[in-house]
Amino acid sequence: MTLTKTHSIFFLLLSTLISNVAYAFPQQQLVPGGIAIIELKDSAQPNVYYRDRKVLTIKNNHQWVALIGIPLSSKAGKHFITNKKTSIKQAFTVIDKEYPAQYITLKKTAKNKRMVNPNAMDMGRITRERKTLSKALATWSNTAPNVDFILPSHGRLSSPFGLKRFFNKQARNPHSGLDIAAPTGTTVKAPANGTIIDVGNYFFNGNTVLVDHGQGLISGYFHLSKTIVKIGDNVIQGQKIAEIGATGRVTGPHLHWNVYLNKTKVDPAFFSGDHINELTTKKKKAH
Ligand code: ZN
Repeated sequence: MTLTKTHSIFFLLLSTLISNVAYAFPQQQLVPGGIAIIELKDSAQPNVYYRDRKVLTIKNNHQWVALIGIPLSSKAGKHFITNKKTSIKQAFTVIDKEYPAQYITLKKTAKNKRMVNPNAMDMGRITRERKTLSKALATWSNTAPNVDFILPSHGRLSSPFGLKRFFNKQARNPHSGLDIAAPTGTTVKAPANGTIIDVGNYFFNGNTVLVDHGQGLISGYFHLSKTIVKIGDNVIQGQKIAEIGATGRVTGPHLHWNVYLNKTKVDPAFFSGDHINELTTKKKKAH
């Protein structure tokens, strides 16, 4: 082995080591609700679409990659992305994932009855809120996002992403976020730098904050007792944005945390690396 070759292998190992230490990159999970990470051949920033939606492209170890959110409702099989700059199509194969089921019983108080079966007035509000939310989620900023998140809050991982849910035996949408149960008033921090794109009070979600991290990577915080940011604020990783609460449709105080890529909800755990182990899983007491 020549000296140059030994050197280049050494530097390759060193740079891999440094990048692994300094920069946790999400893990690919080719399942509904997961993320696809596709290497691209471009030397400058690519322009990539999945299901007509622009996707996040970022440099990882000098290589341009596309990070694609795979919808929970997607079918197993071949999926395609198109690079509009090069007209190159690339495929990835999604495999099925069987998510567990959860049954929640809501007590029949007047408020909960409306939460389970909203009345006509509530439905009007829900429809308006859905429009406001989808408008916020359509935000696209060209900022290169930090995809190495810290946890927004600490507590018990009370409900993972993807659970099939039944409220009082009625099938509802699967759990599209990650729940961290903690007492009302517990700090909620921005997991990465970003801009506040929505602060509101919603029928199901309660007090809500949405943070745009760049290129369609958006995070959402729901059921908050208190929000301390306003639309347009720039926040840095670790900055307090809100406090955990029990507003909206809940059975107890917790943070419902959503992460969106290309307007698609994906498992927030993919962006949290080993930090996810900072959450406890044991139930202390029922609430
Ligand atoms: Zn939740």
